Amino acid sequence: MSTIFLDRDGVINENRADYVKNWHEFHFLKGSREAIGKLTHAGHRIIVCTNQAGVARGHVSIETVEEIHRRMIAGVAEFGGVIEKVYYCPHGKDENCACRKPRPGMLLQAHDELGIDLSDALFIGDSMTDIRAGIAAGVDSMLVLTGLGIEQFREHFNEVEGTFRISRSLKHATEYILQELHKDSQRMLESSCFSLLEVSNYLDSLPSLHEQVATSTKAVKVW
Ligand SMILES: [Mg+2]
Ligand SMILES: [Zn+2]
Repeated sequence: MSTIFLDRDGVINENRADYVKNWHEFHFLKGSREAIGKLTHAGHRIIVCTNQAGVARGHVSIETVEEIHRRMIAGVAEFGGVIEKVYYCPHGKDENCACRKPRPGMLLQAHDELGIDLSDALFIGDSMTDIRAGIAAGVDSMLVLTGLGIEQFREHFNEVEGTFRISRSLKHATEYILQELHKDSQRMLESSCFSLLEVSNYLDSLPSLHEQVATSTKAVKVW
């Protein structure tokens, strides 16, 4: 069964501009625990890959990051979800590590350590750096519009080389992923890959994105 890689902040929990520094600042996004539960139930392996530069900046300790992850895993488990592993990059921007997204290090590590087939995986994130990491690792990638997603799409859309998918949220994405499990729904999946004009319409509640998408030559698949 295929693997779903998830970014953490802005996908599973609310993004915080000043970093999630303790468990009290960790707030699950509506429906994210249920979504992970459904993905697990359908047989998907779930792996989280998250940049945590707050460690390098001294805002949060490794111990606290790991405690947050233990509690996140437990919170998801209440809904039947299994997060198999959380990879995090504790480094700062200037450290030039291989793991900080947009580099694909964490995805490649999952391949090496857990035997993940990257050609049978989807990476869901709310940042264009997630999309770039996914594309660099050869993983099908999807931007969700929760967290930083809308702002990221608006400001960094053109930095991405390649095709990616868009969905409103992890909850919304999960509905389509689960439909894909049924053979008959493949056609539905294909028909959900829209043209750029249709992307504009899809996003027409976000007028500032409209022009940018309409004038771009990039292919975007919308789920
Ligand atoms: Mg994020
Ligand atoms: Zn790193």
